[in-house]
Amino acid sequence: MSLIQYKSTHFRFAVTYIVITFAVLLFLNIYSSKTNQAIFYNGKQTSMLERCYLAATEISDLQVMNEKTVSDALSGISSLRVSRVIVTDEAAKIIYDSSATARDNTYAVFPEIIEALSVNDVFSWKCSDGTMVSKAAIPIVSYGSLIGCVYMTEYDVQQGALIQSLQVNTFYITMALEAILILFSILFSKTFTARVRKIMVSMRIIREGDYSHRVSMGGNDELTVLGEEFNDLVERLRTSENKRRQFVSDASHELKTPLASIKLLSDSILQNDMDMDTAREFVEDIGNEAERLNRMSQKLLTLSYIEDHMDNDFEITYMAPTVERVARMVSAIAGKNGIKIETDLKNDSPILILEDDLYQIIFNLAENGIKYNTPGGKLTISLGRQEETAILKVEDTGVGIPEDSVGHIFERFYRVDKARSRQTGGSGLGLSIVRNIVERNNGQIFVTSTLGQGTTFTVHFPIFETEVEL
Ligand code: ADP
Repeated sequence: MSLIQYKSTHFRFAVTYIVITFAVLLFLNIYSSKTNQAIFYNGKQTSMLERCYLAATEISDLQVMNEKTVSDALSGISSLRVSRVIVTDEAAKIIYDSSATARDNTYAVFPEIIEALSVNDVFSWKCSDGTMVSKAAIPIVSYGSLIGCVYMTEYDVQQGALIQSLQVNTFYITMALEAILILFSILFSKTFTARVRKIMVSMRIIREGDYSHRVSMGGNDELTVLGEEFNDLVERLRTSENKRRQFVSDASHELKTPLASIKLLSDSILQNDMDMDTAREFVEDIGNEAERLNRMSQKLLTLSYIEDHMDNDFEITYMAPTVERVARMVSAIAGKNGIKIETDLKNDSPILILEDDLYQIIFNLAENGIKYNTPGGKLTISLGRQEETAILKVEDTGVGIPEDSVGHIFERFYRVDKARSRQTGGSGLGLSIVRNIVERNNGQIFVTSTLGQGTTFTVHFPIFETEVEL
C-alpha cells in the first residue's frame, strides 16, 4: 500500500473542527445578537408606549378634537420628543400630523394605526442604515368609547448606531475567532496526522526488512506510548527474526554433514571394484547416518512444538516415579558402558508440570550423564527441596565441560566435542529442549562442571502447595 492511496485523516480532522467551531460561533453570535436586540427592544417599547399614553390621556380630556386643540395639548407634554406624531379619529382620519409633509393625507392607513383602532397597543421596530426606527400606536378612549388613536414614530440614530456597531463588532470578532480556529485546527490536525504518518512510514521501513529502524514520537501522550509499544514490538520481531535465521542456518548446516556422508558412502559403493564386506560396512554407515538424521528431525520437531505451544498445560506431578521410569529406561545403555545409576528420591515434592515434559527433562539429562561419562563411572539422580523449591539433581562422574563452553551448552546445535557427540548420536539439541521445557514450567536450570571429574545439572521448580482441609 502506498502512503498516498488513503484519504488523509488530517483533512477530516480539520473539516470536523472547523464545522463544529463554526456552528458554536454561529450559535453564540445569533444568541448575543438576539439578547442585545431584546434589551433595546424592551427599553424602547416601554418608553414609546409611555409617551403614547401621555398623549392619549391629554387628548382624551379634550372637549373638541381638532388639529389645533390636539396640537396645543401635545405641545404641553415636554417629554414627547419623537420624530412624528399622528392623531386620528376612530375612522383613521388624520386630525393632527406633526410632519408637515404628511399633513395633507386625509386617512392614515398604517398597519399600526389599524391595529390600534382595534383597541390594541402596538409597538414595532427595525434597524436600518444605522438608524433605529420605532413605531408605536395606542387607542384613545374617552368615557369608555374609542375616539381615535395616537401614532408615534421615532428615528433614533444614536441607538441605531450602537446596535449596528455591536452587530458589526460581533461579526468581526466571530470572523477573527473562526479564522484563528481554522488555523489552529489545520495546525493541530497536521501535527497529529504527521505523527501518525511517522508510525506508518516506520511500519513500511520495517516491513521492507530494516529491523534496526526505530520511531521517535516525542511528546508525552498516547501517541508517544504507541511509538514506544511499536519499538518494543519491532525489537521482539528483530530478535525472533534473528533466531529464525540462525536456526535455519544451523539446522541446514547440521543436516548437511550426514547428507554429505551418505552421498560419499553411496558414491563409493557405486564404484565397481569394492568387495562385498566393505560395501556392507558402508551401507551400515549409511543406515547410521540416516538414523542420526531421523533423531535430529525428531528433536527439531519437539523443539518447534515446544516453542509454538507457549500456552502450557500442566498437572500436579511428583518427580520420583518419573525418575524411576527414566532410570529403568537408560539402565540398558548404562550397563553396556559399565556405568552405575544411583537414585535418592526421599525428598519428593509435587510440582506443576506435565509428566511427559518432566520425563523429557530427566531423560535428556540422564542420557547425557551416560553418553559423556567414562567407563565404570556413576550417574546419580537425586531429589531435594529448599523452602518452596523442589530440586532435581543429575550428577555424573564423566568427562566434564570446559569452562568456556559451559555458557553455550544450552544453545541449539552446540556440541563441545563434535566427534564424540556424533559417535554417541548427539544432535546438540537435547539441552536446548530441556531448558525450553524447564523455563516454560517456571523452573530454572543450572550447571556446574569440572573437566575430567564430572558434571552436575540442577533444576529448580516451585513446589505446588496443596491446601489441606481439616
Ligand atoms: P547432544 O545431543 O550433543 O548431547 P545436548 O544439547 O544434549 O546435545 O548437549 C550439548 C553439548 O553439551 C553436548 O554435545 C556435550 O558436549 C555437552 N554436554 C551435555 N551434557 C553433558 C555432560 N553431562 N557431560 C559433559 N558434557 C555434556
